[in-house]
Amino acid sequence: MIGLYGGTFDPVHYGHLRTALEVKEAVGLAEVRFIPCREPPHRRAPAASPEQRLALLRAALADGEPGFRIDTRELERPGPSYTADTLMSLREELGEAPLALIVGLDAFLELHHWHRWRELFERAHLLVMQRPGPEPELPAELDAALRQRFSADPAALRRHPAGCIHFVPVTQLAISATQIRAAIAAGASPRYLLPDSVWRAIRELGLYRAPG
Ligand code: ATP
Repeated sequence: MIGLYGGTFDPVHYGHLRTALEVKEAVGLAEVRFIPCREPPHRRAPAASPEQRLALLRAALADGEPGFRIDTRELERPGPSYTADTLMSLREELGEAPLALIVGLDAFLELHHWHRWRELFERAHLLVMQRPGPEPELPAELDAALRQRFSADPAALRRHPAGCIHFVPVTQLAISATQIRAAIAAGASPRYLLPDSVWRAIRELGLYRAPG
């Protein structure tokens, strides 16, 4: 089964990389594809360009983690990066292979606002990265989808190409790209929040510094 890890990666950091590895091992994924988006439909434009964010992702994976790959199809597609379009294009390429979209719990709680969200389940499973704490209140539409599609067993996901929702507990690292951009703009070091190779590439590209 192939895991699909989408994000703006502005910049990629250990919160992304560590959770991707934990989900890969917990669910037994053959591959994790990092899919940087060109234009996030639900938030403001990224600070770094698509090419720069791709360069940072390449720097992050340069050490080589088996099964970690970058998929550039959203960067090559003009306009807003809708996951529904990405999954359609992956399906055309990969046939009936099981696919699993990896999302954080926060993203899952907003899923019913995504473009053509019900279609997602026709093309992929959903792996929701869970954090400890009380069960969140689900909107009615998501609650209904979860009742219909919940699977506690990752092996069941491998037997079907798409359609199940599975929760994966992951170590919570309180790291965000926003925090890293703010640190750099303030002249502080973001070291140890992200790989040194990424911090080096950020400096080479002159990214996230305060203007002036
Ligand atoms: P920003 O701070 O700019 O909003 P971000 O750090 O949240 O960025 P994104 O590229 O927007 O990063 O996130 C892509 C995916 O990675 C989302 O599914 C998000 O839930 C997940 N993610 C981001 N940071 C973490 C983290 N520290 N731990 C677990 N998952 C994370």
